[in-house]
Amino acid sequence: MDYLEMLKKAREKMPHVENVERFSLPDADVATGKRTTIRNFSDIAKSLRRDAKHVARFLFKELAIPGSMPGGELMLQGKIPGGAIKQKIEEYAKEYVYCRECGKPDTNLSEEGKILIIKCEACGARKTCKRM
Ligand SMILES: [Zn+2]
Repeated sequence: MDYLEMLKKAREKMPHVENVERFSLPDADVATGKRTTIRNFSDIAKSLRRDAKHVARFLFKELAIPGSMPGGELMLQGKIPGGAIKQKIEEYAKEYVYCRECGKPDTNLSEEGKILIIKCEACGARKTCKRM
């Protein structure tokens, strides 16, 4: 038995380790000038599996800046450093995407009356979210 075969056998004997699922969030493609544009905004919203309008509203509020969404881009009426945008997108994911019980991103948002609820498809946890 050669080394690679041994390695394979050893791996087969190891208990199955469950991977913690993380989605691959694309890096925000930010162009700054007088305004700030996130060019791949629709891709980011798609990866988060959230309505782009909801993500946009969060950014407008958190960054305290007005903006608009022409095409799939997000335009902010001011100069925002790319790092701040990335941080806010991560905060959005923490609040509205990742399950607070199991940490998986397989969740859905739904409105029940005036309450916004994040439901986890993986573990069934239900938590209320901050409304914007
Ligand atoms: Zn969960």
